Amino acid sequence: MAVLSMQNPATGEHLGSLAEATPEQVQRAMALARAAFSTWSKTALADRLDYLVRLRHYLAQHGEEIAHKISQDTGKVSLEAFMTEIFVTVDTIRYYEKHAQQMLAVQEVATTLVLWPKKSYIHYKPMGVVAVISPWNYPFQLAVIPVLSALVAGNTVILKPSEVTPATGRLIEELFRAIPLPDGVISVLHGGREVGQALVSARPDKIFFTGSVATGKKIMAAAAEHLIPVELELGGKDPMIVLEDAHLERAANAAVWGAFTNSGQVCMSVERLYVHEKAYPAFLELVTQKTAGLRQGFPDQAEIGSMTSPEQIGIVRVHVEEALSLGAKAVIGGSFPKEGMFLPPTILTDVTPAMKIMQEETFGPILPIMTFSSEEEAIRLANASPYGLNASVWSQDKRRARRVAESLESGNVCINDVIISYANPHLPFGGVKQSGIGRYRGPSGLQAFTHSISIIHDPGTRKREVNWYPYTEDQRLLFLGLTNLLYGRKPIWKPGTLGAIWREIKRLF
Ligand code: NAD
Repeated sequence: MAVLSMQNPATGEHLGSLAEATPEQVQRAMALARAAFSTWSKTALADRLDYLVRLRHYLAQHGEEIAHKISQDTGKVSLEAFMTEIFVTVDTIRYYEKHAQQMLAVQEVATTLVLWPKKSYIHYKPMGVVAVISPWNYPFQLAVIPVLSALVAGNTVILKPSEVTPATGRLIEELFRAIPLPDGVISVLHGGREVGQALVSARPDKIFFTGSVATGKKIMAAAAEHLIPVELELGGKDPMIVLEDAHLERAANAAVWGAFTNSGQVCMSVERLYVHEKAYPAFLELVTQKTAGLRQGFPDQAEIGSMTSPEQIGIVRVHVEEALSLGAKAVIGGSFPKEGMFLPPTILTDVTPAMKIMQEETFGPILPIMTFSSEEEAIRLANASPYGLNASVWSQDKRRARRVAESLESGNVCINDVIISYANPHLPFGGVKQSGIGRYRGPSGLQAFTHSISIIHDPGTRKREVNWYPYTEDQRLLFLGLTNLLYGRKPIWKPGTLGAIWREIKRLF
């Protein structure tokens, strides 16, 4: 049986081991989830939400302790773990408590005049078993929030957390047991790629995946075999555009936090920064100064912890070394420790758009900065990327900031802030281009865990409809007349149309 080793990346401390799920366990989890679906999907939404309330109370009570355990598993500082893993989760739960009833209620929509006297509804129906496959960078909330969204919508769930952070996977499993949720409503399968593949092959009714573009493509290809709907939340190369009229001190504070939070291992982190040439000297001085003041350590009294995945350090190194070899300069940082998982926060200048550091997802504490001379150039540079997850625009001119924000090819844009759009559960979240397919969070994001069933309801009191058999010359005149009347520039009545309409109406009864 394959085993996952749990280790604190910041200290190297061994935290135990965890058995990977076997193929039989994957099958059993699927059978349990299917069996539980028939009851859970019929459980009143208010009762489903009660479980979330219990979870919220549990997290509010034990949040600090849980955040500490997440720190141990990831190397991130514990305040960061609390803010970004626990706080965001309880805030989302409260959002569902307040709004899920309305978002999932049967919705009556208008019916066009020609379909009188029918009524139309949308019914949001749970899909079945949802597979959630999650990454290691925010291993708690990027697993728990999709799981809760799927559960609120009436699905049962199988979660496959990341093998890079198995201790958090186990923590989540224990948490759901502590609530406790009914058997089979949520199962957690520990393991790596093979377990993920086995889960996809077990044919869930929806796959919600967060991770890399490469894996997302593989999952989508495997899901296509059985036409399983997929939602893909993938990588990013998020641009930050600082216009010359920005509040520079605020922008510098944001750039430093946005690039270095969680050691830059954030799908929405500031991965490339474009600053107007007029603001560049002052801005560079500010970001350099602020970066120099950051404390690196673990798990408390520091701003930056360690990297989580040793493989990621390899990618960051390739990007930085290539940039330096092509003429970039490290204003601060830039060196790689011989051992250990702490990477120094690094600012690179003299970078060019062709460098990997400006093209590919780096996912490390690196802030590469370039200048631009016009708004158009900034937009062009920002959009010249295969990714489109998040972006930020900095200007004190509201109209200008909105204009630039709306020109960006990005699923999410922050104005005078970074990353934070994700924190508002009212907003849908997801990417464009290679950053993903689909949205979660917000009303449409919750409804994405359902099938929207369109129901049209005729009173059923007339014996036929105008479009039914047998076809007649009167029907032809009626449709030509109606088309002209309702959709033409000006009505042209063919002779005999009014009589035909009258006879067709009589035929209905
Ligand atoms: P990854 O793609 O390596 O792994 C993600 C998950 O997929 C893991 O649980 C892994 O075990 C599983 N997996 C791997 N191969 C699989 C397969 N063939 N079939 C089924 N499951 C498989 O990603 P990662 O390294 O864990 O996460 C980092 C990436 O995630 C970055 O690119 C980051 O930008 C992205 N990310 C995106 C978002 C977002 O919301 N858009 C959020 C966080 C991270």
